[in-house]
Amino acid sequence: MATEAPPPEEADETPLVAEVIAIGDELTTGQRLDTNSQWLAQRLTDLGLVVRYHTTVADDLQANVEVFQNAAGRADVVVSTGGLGPTADDLTRDAMAAAAGVPLVEHSELVEHTERLWTSRGRAMPPQNRRQAQLPEHARAIPNPGGTAPGVDQTVGRCRLFALPGVPAEMVDMWTATVAPAIAAKTTRSRVTCHWLVKCFGAGESAVEGMLPDLIARGRYPLVGITASQATITLRVTASGADEAACLAAMEPTLEEIRTKLGDLIYAEQPGGDVEIELSTVVMRLLVGRDAMLAVTEGMTGGLLAHWLIDADAGRNILTSTSWSANAVTTTRASFTHHLAIGNARDGVVPIEVITPQGAVQKDIQLVGHPSIQRPLVAKHALNLLRLELLKQSQ
Ligand code: AMP
Ligand code: MG
Repeated sequence: MATEAPPPEEADETPLVAEVIAIGDELTTGQRLDTNSQWLAQRLTDLGLVVRYHTTVADDLQANVEVFQNAAGRADVVVSTGGLGPTADDLTRDAMAAAAGVPLVEHSELVEHTERLWTSRGRAMPPQNRRQAQLPEHARAIPNPGGTAPGVDQTVGRCRLFALPGVPAEMVDMWTATVAPAIAAKTTRSRVTCHWLVKCFGAGESAVEGMLPDLIARGRYPLVGITASQATITLRVTASGADEAACLAAMEPTLEEIRTKLGDLIYAEQPGGDVEIELSTVVMRLLVGRDAMLAVTEGMTGGLLAHWLIDADAGRNILTSTSWSANAVTTTRASFTHHLAIGNARDGVVPIEVITPQGAVQKDIQLVGHPSIQRPLVAKHALNLLRLELLKQSQ
């Protein structure tokens, strides 16, 4: 049976639901990208919480009050960023107090702390900065070693809200020092959740899904998700267990099925959370130990492949030369053992060629998909052709 039942203990260990809130006109107007939410959502997920909502809201008091009320009503843990500064558009403290129906209370130790910071910089504290010493009644301050605005730690009903400043570096420090340990203590989980990534190239997302009909179903355990990025397909397998080894053991039958069905479409496997492995890295690894000297000639990709390979070569000096050719596939004059060549597009087709000590292989790549992904697509096809040749030769 392809679908295994979830582990029995899982039912009484329902994960905590989290919500991430990003506050600021610069975000809602599109002037600035909300990178804080991405970072926080990754950290919350790593801690085993399910992030069910991301909310982005302008610097508007009523809108903020609604956002905090909604979040407190539907999440166990809320982490917000932004709106904690001293200026009139910094409304997070006011919104949290209003949402909970409590007053703002000034904390003398916070006033003193902020005054000391200003004095140490040889200046008097501007009067409006006193606002930063106010917290909703019963809330606690989250220390901010890198700035003047303390964060807010407030409990509303069954929900714990953490408000952090918008400045990414301050947000990260305060998360690490105070918020993450507080959330970890709240979860007291006896189980961990692990992810395993299977990286594939050479077939489209729906083709890969079609090869794994029973595996990519919501509610299945272990869960298998599929995403595509510039023609690289990533399968993400998720399982939980007492520890990492138990998670991996729970995944193994699923991973075996994936390996059997996808074969050499799979170019790498890795734990979730690590930097994702690219085809260029895998090709460079395969070339190590073969006394290989790789040359690259590019037409249509204009240096993209060389760029990737230089990054992946990192001191091994396998890449001997790169050249650009306006013509179709031509061979560079530098000495090499392996050669990757990409021609120019003609009638929607780009010729690629791989030369190894065992001979040459050519392939025509059909240009499909959005123009923005055609160069990476062709460059990846060239790398994949070389990868498959190297695999054949090592058998
Ligand atoms: P604030 O705490 O609202 O005064 O934000 C301070 C600064 O942090 C802003 O001017 C932005 O440059 C930056 N910032 C605020 N929110 C975010 C966010 N969600 N992602 C990235 N940067 C942010
Ligand atoms: Mg702001």
